[in-house]
Amino acid sequence: MCPLIGIPCHSNRRHPQHLSGFCVRQTYCRALEAVGGTPVLIPLLDDEEALAGICERLDGLLVAGGGDIAPRHYGQVRSTRLVAVDLPRDRVELWLVRHAVDSNLPVLGICRGLQVLNVALGGALYQDIPTQIPHALRHDFRPQHPPNYLGHDAVVERGTRLADLVGAGRLAVNSFHHQAAARVAPGLAVAASASDGVIEALEAPDKCFVVAVQWHPEHLIEDDARMRRILEALVRVAS
Ligand code: MN
Repeated sequence: MCPLIGIPCHSNRRHPQHLSGFCVRQTYCRALEAVGGTPVLIPLLDDEEALAGICERLDGLLVAGGGDIAPRHYGQVRSTRLVAVDLPRDRVELWLVRHAVDSNLPVLGICRGLQVLNVALGGALYQDIPTQIPHALRHDFRPQHPPNYLGHDAVVERGTRLADLVGAGRLAVNSFHHQAAARVAPGLAVAASASDGVIEALEAPDKCFVVAVQWHPEHLIEDDARMRRILEALVRVAS
């Protein structure tokens, strides 16, 4: 049977609140489908017992890309550069990630999902790479470049879970983020970085599968078999 992979939604607020939706970008669902997983959209419910009930029925969790996490969750005041904060999404994703890690449910974080993993476990973020990291590479290639545009390299650390999937050393990645992990949470290890020191992947070495990447492998599964392997690994461990 196909493993059920939960994906927390974001709030679609293009309509008045009573008409707004809970959404997930299709590319995450399509990519999971392509590697044999069954995506299940998780609404931003208030009731933690209901969320726990959903988790019990899931085989894995994919935490997707999106807007910025409210800095209060890592003890900072917000900078003026913050975009698209979605408080219900923050609350639900932070809760789900802690719950999944505690119950050893496989987790794959993508882009914002890496940041959610880090904050959920006690880490902190750079709120804006261009203003906070001098001499940083360009990490945000929106909107001029297509989603599979390879913006910079990441160097994958030898001996990591990620290296088992994509090999150690240089990996060309797409890059559509203006925030990054700063202080790494206890229990997580850096699995890849860019040449400017920006963290590009984190993982929990003591867990069955808790891996997060700052790039978007879901847009690259047709271009690079290594990117497909990251999603396949989530589905395989969840099976
Ligand atoms: Mn990047």
